[in-house]
Amino acid sequence: MNKTITPNNNNSDLDLSVGLSACRSYNQGQVLEAVEEALEPLGGLKSFLNKNDRVLLKPNLLTNATPESAVTTHPEFIKAVATKVWEAGASQICLGDSPARGSLERVAKECDLLRLQEEAGISLLPFKTARKVSSPTGYLFPLAEEAFGFDFVINLGKLKTHALTGLTGTVKNCYGFMVGMNKVQYHARFPLVHDFARMLLELYLTVQPDLSLIDGVVAMEGPGPRSGRPKPLGVIAASTNAIAVDAVCAKITGFSSKEMTTWRAAAERKIAGSQWEKLKIHGPLEELITTSFDKGASVGGWSFLWRILPARMRNLQEHFRLWPVINERCITCRLCFEHCPAEVLKLETANNNQKVVIDYSGCLRCYCCQEICPEGAIELKRKKPE
Ligand code: SF4
Ligand code: SF4
Repeated sequence: MNKTITPNNNNSDLDLSVGLSACRSYNQGQVLEAVEEALEPLGGLKSFLNKNDRVLLKPNLLTNATPESAVTTHPEFIKAVATKVWEAGASQICLGDSPARGSLERVAKECDLLRLQEEAGISLLPFKTARKVSSPTGYLFPLAEEAFGFDFVINLGKLKTHALTGLTGTVKNCYGFMVGMNKVQYHARFPLVHDFARMLLELYLTVQPDLSLIDGVVAMEGPGPRSGRPKPLGVIAASTNAIAVDAVCAKITGFSSKEMTTWRAAAERKIAGSQWEKLKIHGPLEELITTSFDKGASVGGWSFLWRILPARMRNLQEHFRLWPVINERCITCRLCFEHCPAEVLKLETANNNQKVVIDYSGCLRCYCCQEICPEGAIELKRKKPE
């Protein structure tokens, strides 16, 4: 991030192009070929990078999870992009993020990324220090100081369901540019789903990564972004416009522009990339579209209502959002306590047994607890427990 911040609405041909490729495994040869194929319609990385550029890769490293669980951007996908970056003449590649839980080093170890330091010449760059940055419309974001000064920033999202926003992709991946627990506090500042989505969009427009790619070779379906199931989709997509990448991901997985809230927020403002008919998609879109993707409980039950409700009534969805419910898998580790922006989780003791309870009167239904729980012990239900 080292450029002047401007709203991304220039509608240039390049800005509306999405390179799409099919990739059925994380075999390095296949991923490399598919990454090349996705970048080719954009002119390849050499058309963007100058010799000796310093490049920052920003993957989705939500938390420590194995690559097979599809929680984080896969190491072979990152390695393939790094290979192309070196070929384009870069002088340095750093991989930066601020995971929701644990240090970057610890998360990178569990995600099998440490080997990329040697195999792909990547240096880890933990995001630790916040620098306040104003967005085009006046939001103030505490962004990672460490991410400034690079010549080129590549956003490497993971295609996953998300209990709050519908689908997470490359726009929401920019949330990781916000340092540490600021992310939790922003949930409290924007408790309504669509306000939160508008904030995420604004954050993306502030960061403006130079290029965005999605790892959907194996995506996540069901109760994402932490507790869902891996779903082989075979998708890799690339664009200078993250909204366009996410729109393509939504189309492939059956999300409408209303159900995917960051896309909806961009469409409200007619931001470039949000108007489907204007996108120039290069690749096997029809072949990759699936009708068997589980969109998760938060969205699944709303598809019909989205179609019949007039626009002014759609905020009704806020009132009917799902409630977090703790199940028997809870090991009382208390991790969710630290990540609850409303501080409504507590331990209760009854008959010498401890259990975690939620004070629902203050619950924001932000699902940070569900996102962070390592045991999958928080489910989302329509009915609030007594
Ligand atoms: S719900 Fe999950 S994160 Fe919270 S205490 Fe139980 S196991 Fe830990
Ligand atoms: S209990 Fe969970 S859903 Fe409710 S406010 Fe806390 S973190 Fe958010």
